[in-house]
Amino acid sequence: MFTLMELVQPQSLEEAYEILMKRKNNIVIGGSAFLRMGEKRIGTGIDLSNLNLNLIEETSDYIKIGAMTTLRDLEVSPILNKYFNGVIGNCVKDIIGVQFRNVVTVGASVFSKYGFSDLIVALLSLDTEVELYKGGRVKLEEFLNQKYEKDILVKVHIKKNNSKSIYKCMRNSRSDYPILNLAISKDDNNFKICVGARPQRATIAKEASEFISNNILNEENILKASEIACEELVFGSNMRASKEYRKAICKSLVKSALMEVSSC
Ligand SMILES: Cc1cc2nc3c(=O)[nH]c(=O)nc-3n(C[C@H](O)[C@H](O)[C@H](O)COP(=O)(O)OP(=O)(O)OC[C@H]3O[C@@H](n4cnc5c(N)ncnc54)[C@H](O)[C@@H]3O)c2cc1C
Repeated sequence: MFTLMELVQPQSLEEAYEILMKRKNNIVIGGSAFLRMGEKRIGTGIDLSNLNLNLIEETSDYIKIGAMTTLRDLEVSPILNKYFNGVIGNCVKDIIGVQFRNVVTVGASVFSKYGFSDLIVALLSLDTEVELYKGGRVKLEEFLNQKYEKDILVKVHIKKNNSKSIYKCMRNSRSDYPILNLAISKDDNNFKICVGARPQRATIAKEASEFISNNILNEENILKASEIACEELVFGSNMRASKEYRKAICKSLVKSALMEVSSC
Protein backbone atom coordinates (compact mmCIF):
# COMPACT_ATOMS: atom_id res chain seq x y z
CA MET A 1 0.00 0.00 0.00
CA PHE A 2 1.24 3.50 -0.78
CA THR A 3 1.75 6.31 1.74
CA LEU A 4 0.26 9.69 1.00
CA MET A 5 1.46 12.80 2.85
CA GLU A 6 -1.18 15.14 1.44
CA LEU A 7 -4.15 14.98 -0.94
CA VAL A 8 -5.32 17.97 -2.99
CA GLN A 9 -8.21 18.56 -5.38
CA PRO A 10 -7.14 21.43 -7.64
CA GLN A 11 -9.68 23.73 -9.27
CA SER A 12 -7.83 23.99 -12.58
CA LEU A 13 -5.42 21.96 -14.69
CA GLU A 14 -2.89 24.74 -14.40
CA GLU A 15 -2.94 24.42 -10.61
CA ALA A 16 -2.74 20.61 -10.85
CA TYR A 17 0.31 20.78 -13.13
CA GLU A 18 2.02 23.33 -10.92
CA ILE A 19 1.64 21.07 -7.88
CA LEU A 20 2.75 18.03 -9.92
CA MET A 21 6.00 19.72 -10.92
CA LYS A 22 6.75 21.13 -7.46
CA ARG A 23 8.26 17.92 -6.09
CA LYS A 24 9.52 14.68 -7.63
CA ASN A 25 7.19 12.53 -5.52
CA ASN A 26 4.00 14.53 -6.22
CA ILE A 27 1.76 12.49 -8.50
CA VAL A 28 -1.68 12.42 -10.09
CA ILE A 29 -4.04 9.87 -8.54
CA GLY A 30 -6.62 8.10 -10.68
CA GLY A 31 -8.67 5.28 -9.18
CA SER A 32 -5.53 4.30 -7.18
CA ALA A 33 -6.02 0.56 -7.84
CA PHE A 34 -2.58 0.15 -9.38
CA LEU A 35 -0.89 2.45 -6.87
CA ARG A 36 -2.25 0.25 -4.07
CA MET A 37 -0.19 -2.66 -5.35
CA GLY A 38 3.06 -0.78 -4.67
CA GLU A 39 4.79 0.84 -1.72
CA LYS A 40 5.28 4.35 -3.09
CA ARG A 41 5.79 7.25 -0.68
CA ILE A 42 3.81 10.02 -2.30
CA GLY A 43 4.27 13.66 -1.33
CA THR A 44 1.13 15.30 -2.65
CA GLY A 45 -1.50 13.18 -4.37
CA ILE A 46 -3.38 15.19 -6.99
CA ASP A 47 -7.01 14.16 -7.43
CA LEU A 48 -8.55 15.56 -10.65
CA SER A 49 -12.16 14.94 -9.52
CA ASN A 50 -13.12 18.65 -9.58
CA LEU A 51 -12.08 19.22 -13.18
CA ASN A 52 -15.05 17.71 -15.05
CA LEU A 53 -12.89 15.04 -16.60
CA ASN A 54 -15.36 12.23 -16.14
CA LEU A 55 -16.94 12.53 -19.57
CA ILE A 56 -17.58 10.81 -22.89
CA GLU A 57 -18.67 13.37 -25.48
CA GLU A 58 -19.35 13.22 -29.18
CA THR A 59 -18.50 16.16 -31.45
CA SER A 60 -18.87 16.24 -35.23
CA ASP A 61 -15.41 14.67 -35.78
CA TYR A 62 -14.29 13.08 -32.53
CA ILE A 63 -15.32 11.17 -29.44
CA LYS A 64 -13.67 12.75 -26.40
CA ILE A 65 -13.01 10.74 -23.26
CA GLY A 66 -11.89 12.53 -20.08
CA ALA A 67 -9.05 11.22 -17.91
CA MET A 68 -11.29 10.51 -14.89
CA THR A 69 -13.74 8.39 -16.90
CA THR A 70 -13.78 4.86 -15.51
CA LEU A 71 -13.43 1.67 -17.52
CA ARG A 72 -17.00 0.82 -16.52
CA ASP A 73 -18.18 4.13 -18.03
CA LEU A 74 -16.56 3.04 -21.31
CA GLU A 75 -18.26 -0.32 -21.17
CA VAL A 76 -21.79 1.04 -20.76
CA SER A 77 -21.47 4.19 -22.89
CA PRO A 78 -24.22 4.40 -25.52
CA ILE A 79 -21.92 6.67 -27.57
CA LEU A 80 -18.99 4.25 -27.62
CA ASN A 81 -21.19 1.26 -28.20
CA LYS A 82 -22.48 2.92 -31.39
CA TYR A 83 -19.02 3.20 -32.95
CA PHE A 84 -16.16 0.96 -34.05
CA ASN A 85 -18.13 -2.26 -33.59
CA GLY A 86 -18.22 -1.53 -29.84
CA VAL A 87 -14.51 -2.36 -29.46
CA ILE A 88 -13.87 0.07 -26.59
CA GLY A 89 -16.52 -1.49 -24.38
CA ASN A 90 -15.52 -5.00 -25.48
CA CYS A 91 -11.85 -4.60 -24.62
CA VAL A 92 -12.44 -3.68 -20.97
CA LYS A 93 -15.40 -5.88 -20.05
CA ASP A 94 -13.25 -8.80 -18.85
CA ILE A 95 -10.90 -6.81 -16.63
CA ILE A 96 -11.40 -8.20 -13.09
CA GLY A 97 -15.01 -7.27 -12.22
CA VAL A 98 -17.58 -4.46 -12.28
CA GLN A 99 -16.57 -2.98 -8.90
CA PHE A 100 -12.98 -2.76 -10.06
CA ARG A 101 -13.91 -1.21 -13.41
CA ASN A 102 -16.07 1.34 -11.57
CA VAL A 103 -12.91 2.72 -10.00
CA VAL A 104 -10.01 2.50 -12.46
CA THR A 105 -9.56 5.41 -14.82
CA VAL A 106 -8.81 5.99 -18.49
CA GLY A 107 -6.14 8.65 -17.79
CA ALA A 108 -4.06 6.33 -15.62
CA SER A 109 -4.53 3.36 -17.93
CA VAL A 110 -3.30 5.23 -21.01
CA PHE A 111 -0.65 7.46 -19.39
CA SER A 112 1.00 4.49 -17.68
CA LYS A 113 1.54 2.68 -21.03
CA TYR A 114 1.14 -0.73 -19.36
CA GLY A 115 2.30 -3.46 -21.73
CA PHE A 116 -0.71 -5.60 -20.86
CA SER A 117 -3.28 -2.82 -21.35
CA ASP A 118 -6.46 -4.00 -23.06
CA LEU A 119 -7.63 -0.42 -23.54
CA ILE A 120 -4.44 0.80 -25.23
CA VAL A 121 -4.43 -1.98 -27.83
CA ALA A 122 -8.03 -1.19 -28.83
CA LEU A 123 -7.41 2.58 -28.92
CA LEU A 124 -4.33 2.00 -31.06
CA SER A 125 -6.39 0.16 -33.67
CA LEU A 126 -8.44 3.38 -34.10
CA ASP A 127 -7.36 6.89 -35.05
CA THR A 128 -6.62 8.03 -31.48
CA GLU A 129 -4.84 11.04 -30.04
CA VAL A 130 -3.98 11.76 -26.43
CA GLU A 131 -4.22 15.25 -24.97
CA LEU A 132 -1.51 16.02 -22.43
CA TYR A 133 -1.58 19.20 -20.37
CA LYS A 134 2.01 20.17 -21.27
CA GLY A 135 2.70 17.92 -24.26
CA GLY A 136 -0.43 18.90 -26.19
CA ARG A 137 -2.27 16.58 -28.58
CA VAL A 138 -0.24 13.71 -30.01
CA LYS A 139 -1.08 10.54 -31.88
CA LEU A 140 -1.35 7.60 -29.50
CA GLU A 141 1.31 5.68 -31.44
CA GLU A 142 3.74 8.57 -31.07
CA PHE A 143 2.92 8.96 -27.37
CA LEU A 144 3.59 5.25 -26.74
CA ASN A 145 7.06 5.63 -28.29
CA GLN A 146 7.96 8.82 -26.42
CA LYS A 147 10.20 8.59 -23.38
CA TYR A 148 8.57 9.20 -20.00
CA GLU A 149 7.98 12.80 -19.01
CA LYS A 150 5.90 13.99 -16.07
CA ASP A 151 2.60 15.35 -17.39
CA ILE A 152 -1.17 15.06 -16.95
CA LEU A 153 -3.23 13.09 -19.41
CA VAL A 154 -6.34 15.23 -19.84
CA LYS A 155 -8.38 13.52 -22.56
CA VAL A 156 -8.32 10.88 -25.26
CA HIS A 157 -9.75 11.82 -28.67
CA ILE A 158 -10.92 9.15 -31.10
CA LYS A 159 -11.60 10.24 -34.67
CA LYS A 160 -15.07 9.26 -35.82
CA ASN A 161 -14.83 7.20 -38.99
CA ASN A 162 -16.19 3.94 -40.36
CA SER A 163 -13.59 1.75 -38.65
CA LYS A 164 -14.85 -1.53 -37.30
CA SER A 165 -12.52 -3.19 -34.84
CA ILE A 166 -12.31 -6.60 -33.21
CA TYR A 167 -10.55 -7.15 -29.87
CA LYS A 168 -9.26 -10.53 -28.72
CA CYS A 169 -7.14 -11.71 -25.84
CA MET A 170 -5.79 -14.78 -24.13
CA ARG A 171 -5.60 -15.08 -20.32
CA ASN A 172 -4.39 -18.00 -18.25
CA SER A 173 -7.36 -17.48 -15.97
CA ARG A 174 -10.35 -15.16 -16.00
CA SER A 175 -9.16 -12.32 -13.79
CA ASP A 176 -5.47 -12.53 -14.64
CA TYR A 177 -3.53 -10.11 -16.86
CA PRO A 178 -3.68 -11.02 -20.55
CA ILE A 179 -0.76 -13.00 -21.93
CA LEU A 180 -1.52 -11.53 -25.34
CA ASN A 181 -4.13 -9.12 -26.63
CA LEU A 182 -4.89 -7.64 -29.99
CA ALA A 183 -7.26 -5.42 -31.88
CA ILE A 184 -7.67 -5.37 -35.63
CA SER A 185 -9.55 -2.56 -37.32
CA LYS A 186 -10.87 -2.28 -40.84
CA ASP A 187 -11.77 0.99 -42.53
CA ASP A 188 -12.85 0.23 -46.12
CA ASN A 189 -9.98 -1.98 -47.26
CA ASN A 190 -7.42 -0.68 -44.79
CA PHE A 191 -6.57 -3.02 -41.96
CA LYS A 192 -4.59 -2.16 -38.83
CA ILE A 193 -3.30 -5.07 -36.77
CA CYS A 194 -2.26 -4.09 -33.21
CA VAL A 195 -0.79 -6.52 -30.71
CA GLY A 196 -0.09 -5.95 -27.00
CA ALA A 197 0.93 -7.88 -23.89
CA ARG A 198 3.78 -9.43 -25.89
CA PRO A 199 4.52 -8.73 -22.93
CA GLN A 200 5.81 -5.40 -24.24
CA ARG A 201 3.32 -2.63 -24.89
CA ALA A 202 0.97 -2.60 -27.85
CA THR A 203 2.38 -1.89 -31.27
CA ILE A 204 1.19 -1.98 -34.87
CA ALA A 205 2.20 -4.94 -37.03
CA LYS A 206 2.86 -2.67 -40.00
CA GLU A 207 4.02 -5.21 -42.60
CA ALA A 208 1.14 -7.57 -41.88
CA SER A 209 -1.37 -4.68 -41.94
CA GLU A 210 -0.01 -3.49 -45.30
CA PHE A 211 -0.01 -6.98 -46.75
CA ILE A 212 -3.64 -7.72 -45.91
CA SER A 213 -4.77 -4.21 -46.95
CA ASN A 214 -3.24 -4.68 -50.41
CA ASN A 215 -4.22 -8.25 -51.16
CA ILE A 216 -7.42 -10.13 -51.74
CA LEU A 217 -9.04 -11.11 -48.50
CA ASN A 218 -9.10 -14.89 -48.63
CA GLU A 219 -8.08 -17.70 -46.32
CA GLU A 220 -4.61 -18.03 -47.79
CA ASN A 221 -3.80 -14.32 -47.40
CA ILE A 222 -5.27 -14.17 -43.89
CA LEU A 223 -2.97 -17.02 -42.89
CA LYS A 224 -0.02 -15.28 -44.56
CA ALA A 225 -0.82 -12.00 -42.73
CA SER A 226 -0.90 -13.83 -39.39
CA GLU A 227 2.52 -15.35 -40.17
CA ILE A 228 3.98 -11.97 -41.19
CA ALA A 229 2.69 -10.42 -37.93
CA CYS A 230 4.40 -13.13 -35.88
CA GLU A 231 7.69 -12.64 -37.72
CA GLU A 232 7.82 -8.84 -37.56
CA LEU A 233 6.78 -8.47 -33.90
CA VAL A 234 9.04 -9.04 -30.93
CA PHE A 235 7.73 -11.37 -28.21
CA GLY A 236 9.13 -12.03 -24.76
CA SER A 237 8.79 -14.47 -21.89
CA ASN A 238 7.65 -13.82 -18.33
CA MET A 239 6.06 -15.80 -15.48
CA ARG A 240 2.77 -16.03 -17.45
CA ALA A 241 3.95 -17.34 -20.83
CA SER A 242 7.00 -18.04 -22.96
CA LYS A 243 7.74 -16.06 -26.09
CA GLU A 244 7.17 -19.17 -28.23
CA TYR A 245 3.70 -19.62 -26.71
CA ARG A 246 2.85 -15.93 -27.25
CA LYS A 247 3.94 -16.21 -30.88
CA ALA A 248 1.70 -19.24 -31.42
CA ILE A 249 -1.25 -17.51 -29.74
CA CYS A 250 -0.63 -14.37 -31.81
CA LYS A 251 -0.85 -16.32 -35.07
CA SER A 252 -4.11 -17.93 -34.12
CA LEU A 253 -5.72 -14.72 -32.71
CA VAL A 254 -4.69 -12.61 -35.72
CA LYS A 255 -6.19 -15.21 -38.03
CA SER A 256 -9.52 -15.40 -36.24
CA ALA A 257 -9.79 -11.61 -35.69
CA LEU A 258 -9.08 -10.96 -39.39
CA MET A 259 -11.81 -13.42 -40.36
CA GLU A 260 -14.24 -11.75 -37.97
CA VAL A 261 -13.43 -8.16 -38.87
CA SER A 262 -13.63 -8.89 -42.58
CA SER A 263 -17.29 -9.83 -42.15
CA CYS A 264 -18.18 -6.70 -40.13
C1 LIG B 1 -4.95 -6.31 -9.86
C2 LIG B 1 -5.02 -5.56 -11.16
C3 LIG B 1 -5.33 -6.24 -12.33
C4 LIG B 1 -5.41 -5.57 -13.55
N1 LIG B 1 -5.72 -6.26 -14.69
C5 LIG B 1 -5.77 -5.60 -15.87
C6 LIG B 1 -6.10 -6.28 -17.09
O1 LIG B 1 -6.32 -7.48 -17.14
N2 LIG B 1 -6.14 -5.54 -18.24
C7 LIG B 1 -5.88 -4.20 -18.25
O2 LIG B 1 -5.93 -3.59 -19.33
N3 LIG B 1 -5.61 -3.53 -17.11
C8 LIG B 1 -5.54 -4.20 -15.95
N4 LIG B 1 -5.20 -3.50 -14.80
C9 LIG B 1 -4.89 -2.06 -14.90
C10 LIG B 1 -6.14 -1.22 -14.67
O3 LIG B 1 -7.06 -1.44 -15.72
C11 LIG B 1 -5.78 0.28 -14.66
O4 LIG B 1 -5.19 0.61 -15.89
C12 LIG B 1 -4.81 0.61 -13.54
O5 LIG B 1 -5.31 0.15 -12.30
C13 LIG B 1 -4.57 2.12 -13.45
O6 LIG B 1 -5.76 2.77 -13.20
P1 LIG B 1 -6.03 3.53 -11.81
O7 LIG B 1 -7.11 4.51 -12.07
O8 LIG B 1 -6.19 2.54 -10.73
O9 LIG B 1 -4.61 4.32 -11.64
P2 LIG B 1 -3.81 4.76 -10.32
O10 LIG B 1 -3.40 3.55 -9.55
O11 LIG B 1 -4.53 5.83 -9.62
O12 LIG B 1 -2.53 5.41 -11.03
C14 LIG B 1 -1.63 4.64 -11.78
C15 LIG B 1 -0.54 5.58 -12.34
O13 LIG B 1 -1.12 6.49 -13.28
C16 LIG B 1 -0.80 7.85 -12.95
N5 LIG B 1 -1.94 8.67 -13.36
C17 LIG B 1 -3.23 8.55 -12.97
N6 LIG B 1 -4.02 9.40 -13.65
C18 LIG B 1 -3.20 10.11 -14.46
C19 LIG B 1 -3.42 11.18 -15.41
N7 LIG B 1 -4.64 11.66 -15.68
N8 LIG B 1 -2.34 11.70 -16.04
C20 LIG B 1 -1.09 11.24 -15.77
N9 LIG B 1 -0.82 10.23 -14.91
C21 LIG B 1 -1.88 9.68 -14.27
C22 LIG B 1 -0.56 7.82 -11.46
O14 LIG B 1 0.27 8.89 -11.07
C23 LIG B 1 0.11 6.46 -11.28
O15 LIG B 1 1.48 6.56 -11.57
C24 LIG B 1 -5.14 -4.16 -13.58
C25 LIG B 1 -4.83 -3.48 -12.40
C26 LIG B 1 -4.78 -4.15 -11.20
C27 LIG B 1 -4.48 -3.37 -9.95
